[in-house]
Amino acid sequence: MRTVLVVEDEEHLAETLRYNLESEGYRVRTAGDGIEGLSLARTIQPDLVLLDLMLPALDGVGVLRGIREESQVPVLLLTARTSEADRVRGLDLGADDYITKPFSVAELLARVRAHLRRKRREPADAAQRTIEFGGPDHQFTLDLNRRQLRRGEEPIPLRPKEYELLAYLAQRHGRTFTRDQLLNDVWDISFAGGTRTVDVHVRWLRIKIESPDSPPKHLITVRGAGYRFER
Ligand code: CA
Repeated sequence: MRTVLVVEDEEHLAETLRYNLESEGYRVRTAGDGIEGLSLARTIQPDLVLLDLMLPALDGVGVLRGIREESQVPVLLLTARTSEADRVRGLDLGADDYITKPFSVAELLARVRAHLRRKRREPADAAQRTIEFGGPDHQFTLDLNRRQLRRGEEPIPLRPKEYELLAYLAQRHGRTFTRDQLLNDVWDISFAGGTRTVDVHVRWLRIKIESPDSPPKHLITVRGAGYRFER
């Protein structure tokens, strides 16, 4: 049975979510503030987290940061805020998706199913694979099983979405993708202005895998189109 952790301080909404998720066959745990939410996320190891952004004690961004220090569990943000900045911040910190209140329960359940399906698919897709790139003096290995990038033998820390963007492009090297495609496929979302998120992650990745003294060799900007990965 799949366990969903609901971190939401509006009791009525939390109970509505519990009722509907349980009706779909999930085990549900709820937390009414951020500290309890983070503590439960660590102890019960849920399969998915529904996380309100505005919470007492510790806000949703703090909870997300804590979760991401140790887990890649899918996190869907529930947000009453309409501000793009908050969503971008959440997505930059490794949230998988967001849904803006008020939302339809049917849509939320559909997204929960989609993220759990995707999570289940991942291990099979990543069967024993690594992708190597770079030259003899800077040999990189992207390990799709461990979700890890190494330079030589040394692991290079990546944010969750940096890893996913790099893995997505590296597995499709030589093909150009628009920012919208990347946002859709890597972040599973699209929103006006969100393409900035893609550029920010490309910039961060370049610091880790490109030489500062020459134009990018791996994460290549295709003028007027988007990005392409070359080994
Ligand atoms: Ca709230």
